[in-house]
Amino acid sequence: MAVSEIPARQPRAPRRPRGEGQWALGHREPLNPNERMKKDDDPLNVRARIENIYAHRGFASIDPQDLRGRFRWWGLYTQRKAGIDGGRTAVLEPHELEDEFFMLRVRVDGGQLDLAQLRTVAEISREFARDTADITDRQNIQYHWIRVEDMPEIWRRLESVGLQTTEACGDCPRVMLGSPVAGVAESELIDSTPAIDEIVQRYIGDKEFSNLPRKFKSSISWLVDIPYEANDVAFLGVDHPEHGPGFDLWVGGGLATNPMLAQRLGAWVPLSEVAEVWAGVVGIFRDYGYRRLRHRARLKFLVADWGVAKFREVLEKEYLGRTLLDGPAPELPDRPIDHIGVHRQRDGRNYVGAAPVVGRVSGTQLAQLADVVEAHGSGRVRLTPYQKLLVLDVPPERTESLVAGLREIGLEAQPSAWRRGTMACTGIEYCKLAIVETKARGEELVARLEQRLRDFDADISIHINGCPNACARTQVADIGLKGQLVTGPDGRQVEGFQVHLGGGLGMAEGRTAGFGRKPRGLKTTAEELPGYVERLAVRYLAGRTEGE
Ligand code: SF4
Repeated sequence: MAVSEIPARQPRAPRRPRGEGQWALGHREPLNPNERMKKDDDPLNVRARIENIYAHRGFASIDPQDLRGRFRWWGLYTQRKAGIDGGRTAVLEPHELEDEFFMLRVRVDGGQLDLAQLRTVAEISREFARDTADITDRQNIQYHWIRVEDMPEIWRRLESVGLQTTEACGDCPRVMLGSPVAGVAESELIDSTPAIDEIVQRYIGDKEFSNLPRKFKSSISWLVDIPYEANDVAFLGVDHPEHGPGFDLWVGGGLATNPMLAQRLGAWVPLSEVAEVWAGVVGIFRDYGYRRLRHRARLKFLVADWGVAKFREVLEKEYLGRTLLDGPAPELPDRPIDHIGVHRQRDGRNYVGAAPVVGRVSGTQLAQLADVVEAHGSGRVRLTPYQKLLVLDVPPERTESLVAGLREIGLEAQPSAWRRGTMACTGIEYCKLAIVETKARGEELVARLEQRLRDFDADISIHINGCPNACARTQVADIGLKGQLVTGPDGRQVEGFQVHLGGGLGMAEGRTAGFGRKPRGLKTTAEELPGYVERLAVRYLAGRTEGE
């Protein structure tokens, strides 16, 4: 064919940008099965079916869309069947991975529990959850072995003391992180508890926000003692030179895949307006958030695409109808604050921070804790986002006795650096997404390091995760461990971890704030993990500089 006979190529019509399912742009038709499930029936409606149908007819009667979808809005996930190794996690169908028991998450907003609540949590653990209870790194309590038949009674008991499982999981506003020392810390200028309470009362369980593109994580705290950068929205205490104490607004944090730290909008929000601004940010997420691909549906992707200036403009113009005041950046501490040990409250009494190992407690232990706390004149306990707990309001003359009482029940207020700094996610014992064991490995690791390096005197954080989802914040630990299969010494695939080094949160820039490095190929088998951490610690001690 002569060149002149070749038909000229027609210019392509400009391609219309593909919608990401943003409701505000008119994409209301569900683009994936999760979106379809939420549109077909609001997940909050499943509570009535659990109480009226499933609790009477049992596990086999549960509609799969409810079981693996809507149940999460009430804190319920099916539990991993025992004995399935991590190599089969990705290849089995969901129904092959799960047994007929549930993991149940109780939201403890701000981490605050009084004695009646603590005793109820303990009693439910012993009666319905085979004495399991984990303190999660979002200040929740998590049970295992729950039967659907017991849920009406569990809700009745929790709600009788003001606790709930509403929206503890699912594509909705999850538990609100708050400072474990809110209301008692000497250096605190505003107690953020009223803002947390207002949000919980007004918006949790409200269908206005029960269909978000993905989970939505929040934190509100005067002190920088919570991992605020890992939240979709965070309010952090700041003293404005003209307007006084208020909160600095951050958006778009999230770890898991494509980790991003929250960014400052440069806006100052007084306590009385926190709930309104929080609702504005959630509204943006609901309306403009991406709903096509689940792994791109967190708020952080929208913030990354828009930038903070546009985000603030949309928040002000479309959601608040007014401009926000500019404010200064908060002061960040030089080292993480975990509140372990004995500390003075502003009223002259003490609070005592104590460490279980990797957040694992039991109903029996929590019941004993309630007795010890009461016997020492206190009535309040707080959970921390580092899987630890605090006892508030301890008279100075009874503090030593309280510390001894805690030790007797396995809660250590003067823990080793290893016990203090190690966290672990749920892992293969119960989690359907897990590839490796985490809690038991964490306990073994702490025991071995305490034996071999008892006097290690530096702050160190070790975060053990059972898969890439980073529930225990892999990327922001001194030693972050991401569970995966690795090649063992004999060439077979075995449980192991990819290692991230040198991450940290909640600290001034120039310290270690930010993501850890993922040195190429740095992996360890689970079996070699204690030896690996020990060698790393010894090398660090040998090479550290004065004051480091
Ligand atoms: Fe499960 Fe993975 Fe999250 Fe651990 S990090 S709790 S294994 S999803």
